[in-house]
Amino acid sequence: MIKAKKSLGQNFLIDQNIIDIIVSTIEIKDKSILEIGPGTGNLTINILKKGPKNLLVVEKDFNLVEKLDKNFGSKIQIINKDVLKIEENNLSNEILTVFGNLPYNISTEILCKWILNIRENNFWFDYLILMFQKEVADRIISDFNTKNYGRLSILANWKLHIKKICDVKPCSFSPKPKIDSTVLLFQPKKKFFQLKEPKNLEKLTRIFFMHRRKMLKKPYNILFNNNLEVADKLKIDLNLRPQNLNFETYFNLTKEYENLRC
Ligand code: SAM
Repeated sequence: MIKAKKSLGQNFLIDQNIIDIIVSTIEIKDKSILEIGPGTGNLTINILKKGPKNLLVVEKDFNLVEKLDKNFGSKIQIINKDVLKIEENNLSNEILTVFGNLPYNISTEILCKWILNIRENNFWFDYLILMFQKEVADRIISDFNTKNYGRLSILANWKLHIKKICDVKPCSFSPKPKIDSTVLLFQPKKKFFQLKEPKNLEKLTRIFFMHRRKMLKKPYNILFNNNLEVADKLKIDLNLRPQNLNFETYFNLTKEYENLRC
């Protein structure tokens, strides 16, 4: 019997209906699949039933790795590492389809790292099917002028199409988490706004949304040294709040910020 480790976000999915929805989201047959945090293998076994070409899994917990090895043997390739420390671009020569019931405590870190590490237009994945806590998923899919809009929505929408697949209740897991969850599907955008350095978008949105109820004036002046030319050029009213600027305006602001620095 496996004792779930809270520190590793171990809430195992036990609801077969939800597992079926997740593995039916996109075609798995003959594709190269990556699963993040396979845990006790509840999703893994259902991915295998769909006949992937190969299945790579990344699991940090060595106790679970031993169990997975015993149960699945050569049907899966196990990487016993922290997902935040792997170089995802070097995982495979093939484009990967990624599944993950992510550990809640690092789910946004994983997504941000993957978005920021995409080299040019070379996506190492074709789809991401990921489970987040609902509150985080709501932030990822929110549009401007809404209360959940912020750094996460802007980063995710920059390079990815996002679709909500379903909400998941605590009773679908063992042990039960205290919160609801949501499964999202991500697909790379063929065309997206070009920036010199992805980290600048992250920096800019972090500073703008530090005080989301305050006017844009203060963060703008921090980033642009009180120079109002960019705001004039982009027709930004600095009396507005950060959530009132749409995605495109944040991309344009980052581009202008980069131009001033080089
Ligand atoms: N996929 C399984 C399921 O749905 O039943 C387990 C999901 S559980 C929410 C998260 C899994 O991620 C656990 O197996 C946990 O050990 C693993 N994990 C936690 N932190 C990790 C990390 N930094 N790198 C890789 N795996 C991690």
